[in-house]
Amino acid sequence: MKVQWLGTAAAEGWPALFCRCESCRRAAELGGKNIRMRASALVDNELLIDAGPDLYAQKLRFNLDLAQVRTILITHIHSDHFLPDTFELLDEVYVGGEKRAKTELYGPVDVIEKLADYSHLLELHPVSAGDAFDTCTGHHVIVLPAVHSAENGVFYLVQKERKSMLYAHDTGVFSDEAKNILRAKVTRPIDIVSFDCCYGTLPHEYGGHMGIEENALMKKFLENDLLADGHTYYACNHFSHNCRLTHDELLSEAGRFGMDVCFDGMQKEV
Ligand SMILES: [Zn+2]
Ligand SMILES: [Zn+2]
Ligand SMILES: [Zn+2]
Repeated sequence: MKVQWLGTAAAEGWPALFCRCESCRRAAELGGKNIRMRASALVDNELLIDAGPDLYAQKLRFNLDLAQVRTILITHIHSDHFLPDTFELLDEVYVGGEKRAKTELYGPVDVIEKLADYSHLLELHPVSAGDAFDTCTGHHVIVLPAVHSAENGVFYLVQKERKSMLYAHDTGVFSDEAKNILRAKVTRPIDIVSFDCCYGTLPHEYGGHMGIEENALMKKFLENDLLADGHTYYACNHFSHNCRLTHDELLSEAGRFGMDVCFDGMQKEV
């Protein structure tokens, strides 16, 4: 399984769209891994998780052939993860007249409802927590309930050929329901875990995202319940500019708990 993180910021991007705070200025000055677009990820070049406002820029920046994508998983309706009109561009007129099978798209019911105009281009599948299904790309997907401000928000575990990735965005600390689904349905230690780490080390009250300490807590849960083992790779992701830490500073904070830090374009193969 090959995963590429296309964007690794929260909704505002980092530097944030209309911001000139010190954190954003520093990111702009340092450049490189400190420049973060809105979050999405590509699995095995053909399964896309989330399709936000930066997908086109990501295609250009990483020279992606998104015509290979046959399955799309949407986590929730927030606009940093989902822009419905993007999918109009699957129309014949925008793909050089190429005749294609409909692209499969899975997502919570409110996401699916927004795509009614594109049902001739997309094979639409509403999902809810606890569902499990096989995609046309040969991936097996388990749907988990998110703790987040979007009603019906979910996150996904994706498996193929005995390899798996848990993509836990956007969510706070896992609910008991999510933990129980993982305990019931995951039969082998997970290979890659990508955690929502919106807050970095920033103290916070809102429980719909996590910071590094909560990621470490969830890592411990996965290890204690034998859902992960010594080979499991952990990466923190989906950072807000309010973190105020550079990529290298985030790396040293996450490193204390045995976790890596995502950057735009980062790839991992297991
Ligand atoms: Zn988000
Ligand atoms: Zn800022
Ligand atoms: Zn969100």
